[in-house]
Amino acid sequence: MKETTQLIDIPAKSLDAWLKNKICDPRWNEWEWQISQRITRIGQMPPLSWLTKTKESELKNVCERFPMAITPYYLSLMNLDDPDDPLLKQALPSTQEMLSEATSFEDPLNEEANSPINGLTHRYPDRVLFVVTNSCAVYCRHCTRKRLWGKGREKILTKTEIQGGLDYIMRHPEVKDVLVSGGDPLLLPTSLIDYLLQGIRKIPHVEIIRICTRVPVVMPQRIDRHLLDVIEKYGPVWLNTQFNHPNEITEKSAASCDLVLRRGIPVSNQTVLLKGINDSPEIIKKLNRQLLKIKVRPYYLFQCDPVTGTEHLRTNISTGIQIMDCLRGYISGLGVPQFVVDLPGGGGKVPLQPQYIVSQTEDRIIFRNYEGKLFVHNEPFVRKP
Ligand SMILES: *Cc1c(COP(=O)(O)O)cnc(C)c1O
Repeated sequence: MKETTQLIDIPAKSLDAWLKNKICDPRWNEWEWQISQRITRIGQMPPLSWLTKTKESELKNVCERFPMAITPYYLSLMNLDDPDDPLLKQALPSTQEMLSEATSFEDPLNEEANSPINGLTHRYPDRVLFVVTNSCAVYCRHCTRKRLWGKGREKILTKTEIQGGLDYIMRHPEVKDVLVSGGDPLLLPTSLIDYLLQGIRKIPHVEIIRICTRVPVVMPQRIDRHLLDVIEKYGPVWLNTQFNHPNEITEKSAASCDLVLRRGIPVSNQTVLLKGINDSPEIIKKLNRQLLKIKVRPYYLFQCDPVTGTEHLRTNISTGIQIMDCLRGYISGLGVPQFVVDLPGGGGKVPLQPQYIVSQTEDRIIFRNYEGKLFVHNEPFVRKP
């Protein structure tokens, strides 16, 4: 493990007394403790030298609308002296969340209109998205389901509601792949995860189950033996997580992915492209290289959805395409994800690529390669009769 992971140490200089005290707590490695010790109010944050009193009271207002939660673990990875710290920016509310722009929407992907039953979105022919809770270990400021946060009131589907979803899937033999998502499904009690996965696995036409979770990144303590014993029973299961920045790859997060991998559960990553956080080729390249070292496959690079309260974190489409251009050829193909935009209104995901075809006729295509050099490709010769 050691030689394959780059250890990112806790930034010592910004460790205030509060955090030092937490890290020394004997329960640091228990996920229930991490949950109970979360920072959910601005006033609980360790002192931020750069935060003025006025700004602080503005942030309290933001929390009224869009709640906050930060685990002590995730907080320990931040440099709190830097207001632009890439992890801090993903978790600390911003006054910009209150600006309502005409370009963003509560539910841009129309998940609710495409929902035949509470919690389920059935958009593609062969797979469904099953949102089983609205709660998360950390509330990412860029969340695509910010509308579900429900003023901090955490909701978990009841067994009856879960059964409703299972019945729907049962009635739809075309469904081969069930994405269990949220919120974060791994925040459910382990016994309920067992109930849910068992119910899905009993449906004969379901081939794979995907667990979409950010706990390896924000609360790796959740990946414990008991949980893995449960998940392992219902394979084939795939796990998709969301590392957005190299600073999130720590010895602890790497070890949690390793535990999952060792149970025969492939781990893939879905990065969200975020302005001022990871929107540069250097950062994404470094992130993806480090992901490969911990055997996590970069699957998607997401254009940030136009969700109300996240507009300040969105980049232009061209930024993502340019990043893709800087990856291809310069990093192992395994480290090149697909850059996708989820179309507004529920059109689904569309992959975007740099243009490699320079010109095209019936007989030949002129390509540029990753370095910008031109190459001619001849189409198959067709002999005239
Ligand atoms: C993203 C998504 C999926 C899964 O898409 P893949 O391209 O197979 O990863 C399924 N359903 C919904 C509603 C989605 O948004």
